[in-house]
Amino acid sequence: MLVVLAAGALALVLAAGAVVPALGAPPARVVSQGTTTRHAVALTFDDAWDPVAARTVFAILQAHDVRATFFPVALGVARDPSLWRAVADAGDEIGNHTTSHPDLTTEPSDEVIAEIVGARRTIEAATGRRMAPLLRPPYGRLDDRLVRLAPALGFPTVVLWSVASSDWAETDGSLVASRSLVGDDGAIVLLHVGPAATIEALPAIIAGYRARGFDLVTVSELLGEG
Ligand SMILES: [Zn+2]
Repeated sequence: MLVVLAAGALALVLAAGAVVPALGAPPARVVSQGTTTRHAVALTFDDAWDPVAARTVFAILQAHDVRATFFPVALGVARDPSLWRAVADAGDEIGNHTTSHPDLTTEPSDEVIAEIVGARRTIEAATGRRMAPLLRPPYGRLDDRLVRLAPALGFPTVVLWSVASSDWAETDGSLVASRSLVGDDGAIVLLHVGPAATIEALPAIIAGYRARGFDLVTVSELLGEG
């Protein structure tokens, strides 16, 4: 369904091409899944308002030697920049999830730009390196304007997901684990840094995919760009 949504958004861009300002870059590629030719999945972690939860998730990933992709809000990164430098140093990928997590389809264009550019500045100052050229819009909400703007701001790929567990609303870690484990080759699994249920579920998610022989890779690796 998400693939259809994404394709719909791109079609809207083409249909509205005459009225969308030309920004000199092709529209963003919208992906919700990686290549199915590799037996791998990507775990992705959004939000991370709470540095304590972020440190816990990072520690679990480290303990299991897993590389993942984080989409933290920059306000959360600013609360614990040394953690995010360690995350980047460990080889985990950090993409853009804006500064304060607004619905980018309802904000004026200058705010959309400020949210994305400001997040990049904060995160790159924390990590001391360029961030991944991946944008995950809050709530997965995107429109033709965002798909046009993102590449011009340095984010040619918009990353959605193919597996979601509603972990943000769950208290039962075993439910989060079982829902997160339905992915197949190329799956992008959406999780959040914050819920206790996600932390509880994470070791089982890692073990479950590994038991089925999957490599756990970053989104860029899954897309063949890592
Ligand atoms: Zn989010």
